[in-house]
Amino acid sequence: MAFSEQMEYAYFEGKIVPFTEAKISIGTHAVQYGTGAFGGIRGYLSSDGKAVNIVRLTDHTTRLLRSSKLLRMDLPFTPATMAEAIVELTRKNAPKTDSYYRPFVYKASVELTPRLQNLKDEFACYMLPMGDYLDTKRGMNMIVTSWTRTEDNMIPSRGKITGSYINASFAKDQAMAYGCDDAIMLNSRGKVAEGSAANLFIVRDGVLITAPINGDILEGITRRSVLALANDLGLAVEQREIDRSELYIADEVFFCGTGVQVAWVQTIDGRTIGNGERGAIAKQLYDALFSIFRGESADHSEWVTRVEIG
Ligand code: PMP
Repeated sequence: MAFSEQMEYAYFEGKIVPFTEAKISIGTHAVQYGTGAFGGIRGYLSSDGKAVNIVRLTDHTTRLLRSSKLLRMDLPFTPATMAEAIVELTRKNAPKTDSYYRPFVYKASVELTPRLQNLKDEFACYMLPMGDYLDTKRGMNMIVTSWTRTEDNMIPSRGKITGSYINASFAKDQAMAYGCDDAIMLNSRGKVAEGSAANLFIVRDGVLITAPINGDILEGITRRSVLALANDLGLAVEQREIDRSELYIADEVFFCGTGVQVAWVQTIDGRTIGNGERGAIAKQLYDALFSIFRGESADHSEWVTRVEIG
């Protein structure tokens, strides 16, 4: 994973500052109790190299502000003004590579007691260069983890709440301990939810199937893009609960998310999925997404915010 150097500037406490100066106290409420929420956004260099195409920027800021609402935050931003701050940061960093944005909102007070009210809230964002999060050229090897996805009434999975990523970390840790790439998480009803940091699709007899929005999953933005593209391509789609055993007999399984993009699965619990090769539908969707993100296709141009970097 190409988590190398952060870019020079970050947005912090209302202004753009050098990344090295964007620091918080060890006593910060969000550090102590996980009372924050984050996002993950990609900016792809346009194929002419002159601009960064930020993917579904206001959809991401909208989701982040919804997560902040779950956490009773009071931030002086709308989705549009938060997006504008991210565009300004892009111009300042003028990346020469594909990049990843980590915006986050957090309870910034240095105070004890896990709670949500009467605490100061802040928004920050930094950027780093990023290629593939998972290697999308080869198939992924997965396990179904024995850790259960947190349910809505414990920590809502639909928001990207910082503390809930302990749950994802346990799952990913188990996958790594077994020499696998990532984990598939079942919800408390035993149905397939998602990966540690990605939504999941299966293909059965030409039908694209994914867990419903109330299946203890993150309301993934790439999931929405995939569903829209599937509709454009005339594919049959079902949003419904998926049984664990359907994973093993599916023709294709793939993950999708901002980080993983579209990553196809070769094995689950040591069983080969389909014929063990990249499936036609995963490839079709990957290609369609990338021609939009690189600015090569005019389809869904509303998904891309083009920022000229001179
Ligand atoms: N599920 C989880 C748990 C995630 O962390 C992510 C990554 N943000 C996703 C799904 C994919 O969401 P998106 O397409 O919005 O990046």
